Amino acid sequence: MDFGLKGKWALVCAGSKGLGFACAEALAEEGVNIVLVARGQEALDVAAQRIRKAASVEVKTVAADITSVEGRSLALEATASPDILINNAGGPPAGDFRTFTSEDWIKALEANMLTPIELIKAVLDGMIERKFGRIVNITSAAVKAPIPILGLSNGARAGLTGFIAGLSRQTPMHNVTINNILPGAFATETMRGRMEAMAKQSGKTVDEIAQQRLNAIPAGRFGEPKEFGQLCAYICSSQASYITGQNFLIDGGGYPGTL
Ligand code: NAP
Repeated sequence: MDFGLKGKWALVCAGSKGLGFACAEALAEEGVNIVLVARGQEALDVAAQRIRKAASVEVKTVAADITSVEGRSLALEATASPDILINNAGGPPAGDFRTFTSEDWIKALEANMLTPIELIKAVLDGMIERKFGRIVNITSAAVKAPIPILGLSNGARAGLTGFIAGLSRQTPMHNVTINNILPGAFATETMRGRMEAMAKQSGKTVDEIAQQRLNAIPAGRFGEPKEFGQLCAYICSSQASYITGQNFLIDGGGYPGTL
């Protein structure tokens, strides 16, 4: 299927590794030019090279912290009029909520709620004028089934999800859609870090924690970032213009509910 995206531009936040990179890679395979944002230039260069090797598209990199005002300005300067925005940033640390300070909460809200909202504010009206826009927020399966030690993530991402539920109904008449993708357990650096934190807190080994997580995933494995990127590319496709305000759980069957 041709997704009808050739020549479009995507701003992919937190895109040098993991799920963000997988979205950039899958979009590039559909002919989308990419602006990749992450803090570390070295990983950005590696990521950009990989994409250029696999697809004939333009790739720009911006070394910036997307959770800062300056970082967002740099990212937006590099992508004058994005057709696609992939909102993503590192997740907040795990821990017992009794130890979280107001600063911890503000940091989590900045990264996982306010940054995506600020970026949407900056690009949405241009998308509406041009009659095409796809915004995808990478959130977490924890939005549907909170993970107790990830209180900062559970709270901040739930706030974003509520905001998007309202906004996403105000845009599809202009061929602009806004959706969230909720990853379960994917084999990335962040997930390894999370498992190390869980191991430390519970006194178990990382292997034991990994096995415990696998036992709760009917697919019997961790997700491959590529699978995530391909779902993202479809949600950004021209065919997906009738899909907005949805929360796509991609978790190998880990969530046990009916809805
Ligand atoms: P990852 O593989 O560790 O990659 C994180 C990417 O984000 C890197 O490119 C990193 O580059 C960039 N990044 C982090 N903080 C940034 C910032 N402030 N500004 C710009 N770029 C930043 O992580 P991932 O697993 O793909 O996770 C992506 C998101 O999904 C996170 O919010 C995570 O909590 C969430 N999530 C992941 C899973 C999972 O199983 N993987 C499950 C649920 C939720 P630099 O460090 O160089 O900036």
